Amino acid sequence: MITVLAGGTGSIKLVRGLAACESDVNVVCNVGDNMWMYEMYICPDIDTTIYGLADLLDRDRGWGIRKDTFNFLRQMEAFGEETWFRIGDRDAATHLMRTNMLKNGKNLSDITRWMCGRFAINVNVMPATDSSVETIISTKKGDMHIQEYWVKHRGREPVTGIRYEGAERARPNPDVSRAIQDSKAVIIAPGNPLTSIGPMLKLQSIRKDLSRARAKTIAVSPIIGNKAVSGPAAKYMEAAGIEVSALGVAKMYAHACSSIVVDTKDKALVNKLSSIDMRVHATRIVMRNRQAENALAAFVLKQAR
Ligand code: GDP
Repeated sequence: MITVLAGGTGSIKLVRGLAACESDVNVVCNVGDNMWMYEMYICPDIDTTIYGLADLLDRDRGWGIRKDTFNFLRQMEAFGEETWFRIGDRDAATHLMRTNMLKNGKNLSDITRWMCGRFAINVNVMPATDSSVETIISTKKGDMHIQEYWVKHRGREPVTGIRYEGAERARPNPDVSRAIQDSKAVIIAPGNPLTSIGPMLKLQSIRKDLSRARAKTIAVSPIIGNKAVSGPAAKYMEAAGIEVSALGVAKMYAHACSSIVVDTKDKALVNKLSSIDMRVHATRIVMRNRQAENALAAFVLKQAR
């Protein structure tokens, strides 16, 4: 059994590769992006993981269901509602089912397990916590939810701070602790260090579980040179005072993992990383297709053994 800590668009590629190599896979998903919209509870990283594993994910966009239609959203627009957060029609059904189940007293873990069954995937996807944790981005114009900052305002404002509201008092998810403890390897997938992986590492229970599991935990860098492979990771890392490099990522994760996979272009980091008691493995870490996903997954598993 293996356990993967995952965000969204970057992580799903490695998760898919790992699921192709291993039969017993747990995926612990970030919940900091979750939000309420039109009275529906939306869990972007859980949905990206489930759609990705069910081979439904729109690969070009990196979110939502391939070939989904947007009639619901168009009608909301006609009603004069805000429509900056794109929700496809089939995707809306996922959010509605989840919301109804929450209203009927089910927790997010139970609902996510049920969703995995309905989408016929044999990977255990689980939320990092069933409690509400929200990533809040601070700017000169005020604080906003990560989705509002990145999607509604297109990440225009300089970031002055990042915090995880609710993280301190979040309830531990016992499934996550068990998965981390019982796995032969734990993998931190390439995800935004501040807004995908960061919210999970901030949870006391996961911090504790990972520090115990440090020897078997391996991360894959989302940064090559001093650039993110995609998205705003560099911007958030700068705002948090973290060096934008695989070294910066390694230092941030040092309490949680004992090795990191970096790109061959960053081979020179090997010496620097040994000073923080971390092993470093270099290979090609950009996943442009399924073959690259499988190759990186096989490489990671080999190092983890
Ligand atoms: P988000 O929730 O949509 O922001 O997605 P994630 O946090 O899972 O993924 C975004 C991060 O993954 C970014 O920091 C990217 O640099 C990184 N990423 C995206 N694609 C790849 C890839 O193919 N390889 C690696 N190593 N990192 C990637």
